[in-house]
Amino acid sequence: MLVVGSGGAGMSAALSAAQAGARVLVATKSALGASNTGRAQGGIQAAVGDDDSVAQHCADTFAAGHEDARPELVRALTEGGPAAIEWLGSLGVPFSRDDGHLRILRCGGASRPRLLQAGERTGAEMVRALRSAVRDQDISLAEGAALTGLAPTASGWVADLAGDDGSRAVEAGAVVLAAGGGLRGEAERRGLESTNHPDATPEVLELAVDLGAQTVFLDSWQRHPTGSIWPAALLGYALPETTRSYGATLLDHDGERVVDEMAPRDVVSEGILAAVAGGRGVEAPNGRVGVWLQTPLIDERNGAGFTADRLAYVHNRYLKAGVDITAEPVLVHPVLHYRNGGLAIDTDGATTLPGLFAAGEIAGGVHGTNRLMGNSLLDTVVYGRRAGRAAAGAAK
Ligand SMILES: Cc1cc2nc3c(=O)[nH]c(=O)nc-3n(C[C@H](O)[C@H](O)[C@H](O)COP(=O)(O)OP(=O)(O)OC[C@H]3O[C@@H](n4cnc5c(N)ncnc54)[C@H](O)[C@@H]3O)c2cc1C
Repeated sequence: MLVVGSGGAGMSAALSAAQAGARVLVATKSALGASNTGRAQGGIQAAVGDDDSVAQHCADTFAAGHEDARPELVRALTEGGPAAIEWLGSLGVPFSRDDGHLRILRCGGASRPRLLQAGERTGAEMVRALRSAVRDQDISLAEGAALTGLAPTASGWVADLAGDDGSRAVEAGAVVLAAGGGLRGEAERRGLESTNHPDATPEVLELAVDLGAQTVFLDSWQRHPTGSIWPAALLGYALPETTRSYGATLLDHDGERVVDEMAPRDVVSEGILAAVAGGRGVEAPNGRVGVWLQTPLIDERNGAGFTADRLAYVHNRYLKAGVDITAEPVLVHPVLHYRNGGLAIDTDGATTLPGLFAAGEIAGGVHGTNRLMGNSLLDTVVYGRRAGRAAAGAAK
């Protein structure tokens, strides 16, 4: 079977398919693991806290998605949370702990603390662990191989893969599309910034749509509320939402709060956009208008040195650009981030076309029309593994 893409969903699918006995080829556009998954900073949600439950996680996800998600997909996502964390841990993802207990934060839109982290580069740690597991297995790799064509055959699919050394066709009994949501490409077509990796272009999604695969909420996109607008070197960089979990507030030019910082993403983004549209924004030296993210409050609320410890990556990125976020606030504005919808799937990741599966950001229905932060990394693991297993069965 063929897996297209090597973010969290592609590598999870490849591992579970190999475990189910399939011969697997992973074809990926650039290096193994180069993906949006590797950029994720905030963390991954799963109901593992004492005061939490799968039912509560399910309810929060469904509500944040405006009740547009498919209930059976949300149920499978949230039920799979604790096992996904255990599996990632077994592969070597070093989840952060305090006094021996898993560190669990509350994030916007969640009624309970539920966000687990591996330091502040959770996605990079996931990619490192998954990539090493994939390399340890008998899984064939085609790096630098982009899917450019796909057609059904009598017994499965034939895929065109293009690389620097030319094109080739491969046949597969089943295919898992895990090529992400392609929002960088969508943003560039419109002259907008996005938080996404350069590989995040939508051609694989478009191939499946052209073949007739059904979609759900394909054009529902999500903004990340706190994209940096200044300094210019950090334009489009998304400050993790944990900055708000740790106490940073969002203020307009009069110092008034613009929104409940712990609301779901779309509500926070709308609050910022409304403040800017209403003339309450703050203009950066490059002419961009945004609002203040009051980052110095993080150390004020949690103690000196907290930012340097828990948000070292962000802190250092800004220091290199000449801004100390512990001493001065930063200017932010919502930035294109995530495709909420995508290819319609069932709980096995099966699309509406026989032998064609999809997992991760390329698929829709799991998050409705607004995703809770931390649920996407979980989605990649839960649905990647489900799709890999089911596709292995279909290929046999
Ligand atoms: C800056 C940033 C921060 C984020 N933070 C978080 C967070 O804290 N928590 C959270 O849950 N989510 C977060 N997200 C969202 C989350 O990381 C992604 O939605 C998720 O990782 C997508 O995983 P994926 O495997 O579906 O796709 P991706 O990780 O995007 O992987 C897609 C893969 O497909 C490959 N590909 C693309 N086109 C082709 C082609 N034509 N042929 C072959 N291969 C192709 C790419 O090279 C890549 O390997 C964040 C996203 C970004 C951009």
